[in-house]
Amino acid sequence: MSNHVALITGGASPRGIGYATALALAATGMRIILFDLDQDAVTKAAASIADRAGGSVIAAACDVSDKSQVDRAVTEAEAHYGRVDVLVNNAGVTGPTPLAEITPEEWDRIFDVNVKGTFLVTQAVLVGMRRRKYGRIVNLSSVSAKRGGGVFGGVHYSAAKAALLGFTKAVAREVAAEGITCNAVAPGLIDTDITGGKLVGELREQVLSQIPVGHMGDPADVAAAIAFLCSEGSRYITGEDIDINGGMHFD
Ligand code: NAD
Repeated sequence: MSNHVALITGGASPRGIGYATALALAATGMRIILFDLDQDAVTKAAASIADRAGGSVIAAACDVSDKSQVDRAVTEAEAHYGRVDVLVNNAGVTGPTPLAEITPEEWDRIFDVNVKGTFLVTQAVLVGMRRRKYGRIVNLSSVSAKRGGGVFGGVHYSAAKAALLGFTKAVAREVAAEGITCNAVAPGLIDTDITGGKLVGELREQVLSQIPVGHMGDPADVAAAIAFLCSEGSRYITGEDIDINGGMHFD
């Protein structure tokens, strides 16, 4: 896999799943492209990954919910490396707002980043994957999609992450004959900054009490499963989703 190129969206946070995934893929010898909102933050993350894992890591500011930004950033990434073989649609946002208080604007923001962003980047990257007849796509769903929330995110987040499971299967079916797989991971509660410091006190204790292994997951736990789905060895697995939740939910 040493000549493969992997694009990971939402990779700027050093405590996030995207960063951990980039680190894991870089360690297998892949060349990496990170997308995130803030140019400085994503450039710093890329330098840190290159420092820790070696190899080539580049970064671009790209809001995944904006088609023109996505098309431009994917074109530039392909121009730099000549290809993108692996796509991890990791960029995501959540919020704990109860149903009655969700505004149409907040609903749209959750769907724009999680669902439309995944659609736009997948559509842009698939063009080259189809031409080369090889690709690995992994989408970030959530245990919230399967158990109806009850972790942190509200109904909009559960609905968006459930939409990604349908999207994953439909993409998998459409591109299966072209050497491209599309799978999802459904993490449980992972220790990152996505909750914006709002998972505290009683709420935190209550969520932790529902995890049979007794603790939150680490971003590296998710990255390991994603790295497997991005490997050549996973070629006969497509349209699947892997639960990574410490036993919080079994399918
Ligand atoms: P995080 O907040 O650490 O990372 C998400 C990254 O996405 C951030 O760096 C953020 O800047 C970036 N991002 C947000 N909007 C963007 C946009 N429009 N364009 C580009 N980048 C954007 O969160 P995380 O916990 O590492 O989450 C990564 C993924 O895993 C998300 O899709 C999340 O929904 C999913 N997930 C997380 C958990 C968890 O418990 N942490 C559980 C299940 C699923």
